[in-house]
Amino acid sequence: SRQFTRPLNDLANQWNTLLSAIAGAERVFEVMDEEVEERDEGAAVTLQQVEGAVRFSDVSFSYEEGGDTLEGISFEAKPGEMIALVGPTGAGKTTLIQLLSRFYNPSKGVITVDGRDITSIRRESLRSHMAFVLQDSFLFKGTIRENIRFGRLDATDEEVEEASRLANAHSFIMRLQDGYDKMLDADGSGISQGQRQLLAIARAILANPSILVLDEATSSIDTVTELKIQEGLQRLMKGRTSFVIAHRLNTIRQADKILVLKDGRLIEQGSHEELLRQEGFYSELYQGTLQGEDE
Ligand code: ADP
Repeated sequence: SRQFTRPLNDLANQWNTLLSAIAGAERVFEVMDEEVEERDEGAAVTLQQVEGAVRFSDVSFSYEEGGDTLEGISFEAKPGEMIALVGPTGAGKTTLIQLLSRFYNPSKGVITVDGRDITSIRRESLRSHMAFVLQDSFLFKGTIRENIRFGRLDATDEEVEEASRLANAHSFIMRLQDGYDKMLDADGSGISQGQRQLLAIARAILANPSILVLDEATSSIDTVTELKIQEGLQRLMKGRTSFVIAHRLNTIRQADKILVLKDGRLIEQGSHEELLRQEGFYSELYQGTLQGEDE
């Protein structure tokens, strides 16, 4: 149903729209960002460097008049930490990421990056310090090399290849008939979903962001590729603040902090062990659906 497929598709679509916008169709960009445009006026700054400290202070948000989609969200991510977002469909995980990326502004409360209110940072500047690896990452019609280089347009061929090696994408690319010159369609047909993820990881490594957003794949990817993806992601996440919309217990357990969302509220936060000790919602989730999932 709509409820199940919409949230992450929405994020992917919006992000893809944004990327197409950067790639040239600027009208789309303007329409999509209209809502937050006005706050960019005036004193918005460009950040040269970002450490990756993120803080939500009593953040609320609603898409429409009426009930809040997110309500009173407060948490802190230190630079380099891995934050797992956990909770049922519709809990508000995607919305939280959208606020962090300034697709929307909070209706209440403040989000800071390195102590600075993000509404005072130019959106393009903020996003230039972020990278997204989504289940359905944006690909465009062009070569594999061009698709990876999209992470940083002035990267040399050597840098593209180096990023691909780190992402574990190099070996599969070299096995393709045209290697890095293989043409891809916008839907990435001709390579597998797992391989598309490896390309997205390579692109993100090349972009060298301080803040990462990962949306863990739910669909099945063969075991070998899955291991490559996991290893590539570990390298990508190292030293960066990452927000993972997590579905796998192994990922969640590794997180420095787990944010448990339910009905738009942050009901629990802490490490895996801390949350188990609390014997609350997470613990229940763990005993039930999470446990045994991928062990
Ligand atoms: P999750 O990512 O945890 O599944 P979402 O952040 O996507 O949750 O959704 C939180 C709530 O906000 C849900 O009730 C969802 O239906 C609603 N929602 C999401 N996107 C929109 C939108 N663009 N307009 C109105 N409501 C939305």
